[in-house]
Amino acid sequence: MKFTDEAKIQVEAGNGGNGCVSFRREKYIPFGGPNGGDGGDGGSVYLVANPNINTLIDFRYKRIFRAQTGQNGMGSDCTGKGGEDLRIEVPVGTLVTALLDDVNEEIMGDLTAPEQTLLVARGGFHGLGNARFKSSTNRAPRQTTPGTPGEVRVLRLELKLLADVGLLGMPNAGKSTFIRAVSAARPKVADYPFTTLHPNLGVVSIEAHRSFVIADIPGLIEGAAEGAGLGIQFLKHLARTSLLLHLVDIAPSGDHTDPVEDVRKIEIELEKYSRDLAARERWLVLNKIDLFDVDEREQRCRDIIKRLGWQGPVFFISAIQGEGCRELSYRIMEYLEAAAASQKIPEEREDPQ
Ligand code: GDP
Ligand code: MG
Repeated sequence: MKFTDEAKIQVEAGNGGNGCVSFRREKYIPFGGPNGGDGGDGGSVYLVANPNINTLIDFRYKRIFRAQTGQNGMGSDCTGKGGEDLRIEVPVGTLVTALLDDVNEEIMGDLTAPEQTLLVARGGFHGLGNARFKSSTNRAPRQTTPGTPGEVRVLRLELKLLADVGLLGMPNAGKSTFIRAVSAARPKVADYPFTTLHPNLGVVSIEAHRSFVIADIPGLIEGAAEGAGLGIQFLKHLARTSLLLHLVDIAPSGDHTDPVEDVRKIEIELEKYSRDLAARERWLVLNKIDLFDVDEREQRCRDIIKRLGWQGPVFFISAIQGEGCRELSYRIMEYLEAAAASQKIPEEREDPQ
């Protein structure tokens, strides 16, 4: 299984400003010298690694990035203003490749540390004003140079995704359905049919710069704990996971029909699979509430919670109809942001102030 997120963007640095032709015009001075200023440099485009961004999903909505052009030079020896640089924030772990043409490409860099910066398009150089061309033989030059164009590049960004949230549950609990339901949680961009990257993996985007990765932990029941293949590789993928959702079908059918038993079985498997994972925050998500009318669903849910002796957070959803899914997504996002913020406190304390 390969869990990567990918995006293609175009970055355009600003052109350099042109040099200016101008001559001093003052009363009583018949032949003023040249005073055309230089242009300003064009702004460059940089990528900057930001540890608070988890996915490349924002690049599906904006694909062209332009830095400012430099201003042209002006009379009276005024230099044009330089264009501002553009800094584009990307997740830590983003691999950047320049696509040179249809076949050739070149790796530009790998942004592996927070705040690491990579120049991806250099701004154009400023043109020279005519004041620069004055000499003893040419006192009134009309010569200038134009600014040079800024670099333009097409980039491929790639990110190996790490799950922020792991999904637990029996086969048929509705894990895939849930991933599909929440992965479309960006109502404003309805026309983009995102984003189940993989049947077992989804990116949930709440708004710009707020997104998380959710992954189905496959095969827990079918012997993954005994090391049947997936184990180690998948654990790596779950390294960053700080929250587990335990999805429960409140009306299981077939040969196992007691949701409480289902939960216990999964808990035992989880403990065997990874002690470390078993110790992380876990929320109970009771699914398929659409199957019952309000009274009966409440009755059932209360019964499940009571028999489990569940003390932690509980959510009630219908993955298939989307009921309760959006609220759960927001709660997850808030939880992840709070967890990330609390991890940052020690760094801030190092500040001598
Ligand atoms: P997974 O094995 O945990 O990934 O479960 P799936 O997402 O494949 O769902 C198993 C079955 O349950 C499918 O037939 C789904 O349509 C159905 N299902 C999932 N969520 C709901 C729900 O909220 N309500 C109902 N009625 N059926 C659901
Ligand atoms: Mg599934």
